[in-house]
Amino acid sequence: MDKENTDTQTRILAIGAHPDDYDINAGGCAILWAQAGYAVRFVSVANGDAGHHEQSGEALAKRRKSESAGQVAGIEYQVLDNLDGHIVPSLEQRWELLRVIRDFRPDLILTHRPNDYHPDHRYTSQLVQDCSYLMSVPNTCPDAPRLEKTPGIAYFRDTFQKPIPFKPDVAVNIDSVVEMKIRMLSCHESQFYEWLPWIDKHGTQISEDPESRFEDLRQFASRFSEPSPADRALVAHFYSEDRAASVSNVESFEICEYGAELSESDIKQLFPIDT
Ligand SMILES: [Zn+2]
Repeated sequence: MDKENTDTQTRILAIGAHPDDYDINAGGCAILWAQAGYAVRFVSVANGDAGHHEQSGEALAKRRKSESAGQVAGIEYQVLDNLDGHIVPSLEQRWELLRVIRDFRPDLILTHRPNDYHPDHRYTSQLVQDCSYLMSVPNTCPDAPRLEKTPGIAYFRDTFQKPIPFKPDVAVNIDSVVEMKIRMLSCHESQFYEWLPWIDKHGTQISEDPESRFEDLRQFASRFSEPSPADRALVAHFYSEDRAASVSNVESFEICEYGAELSESDIKQLFPIDT
């Protein structure tokens, strides 16, 4: 599917439950990866057909797909045709995702953590974990060639505390592309300007006024990229003390132990850490 696919190109696969999850959690990194010539694909396991208070079904799924498509040059989008709220760790969905992963042959996979308020997020994570070993087993889905090399797997940041809070292993400075990331989020009109303010799951205060809503979105998004003390310590480690003191926006990730073991040099090669 990827015309620029070469053996030397680093390949990043972000797997979210819904067509906006990867943008908010890894959009800045994706822009940096794309700028660096990495192959980046965003996969949504569900089609987003329930994420609205006035629209639903096929029309909404179609709208959400169009909001995702081609926002940033170099990022490929793939929306699987599972219904919202129907993600479960079934054999059928495991094999579907296994084929997606084998088709793309990633060096790094990003996804949700397994404990999350939303069942689709939770089971997307479970599905990725369930695929982690099977990726290299030739007799599982033999029609799709197995992966010779197990990719690294890392979790998006979240704020859930039980049973164990997020503990970042890498924090990427996204200050240079944060404006592009907000524009990327603003393409998801149905979500950030309509659905999330209505359901108000995150205390979302975004006005309907087209003039001010972009600024509101900027405020809303900033809470997802505000560096924690642990993030700043990682920026000091991977970049410099000066950068840690000045950074305003980060995307951080926790390494999943089911993926490949990642050394410090692997992390610097896989994540867009420009020192
Ligand atoms: Zn979601």
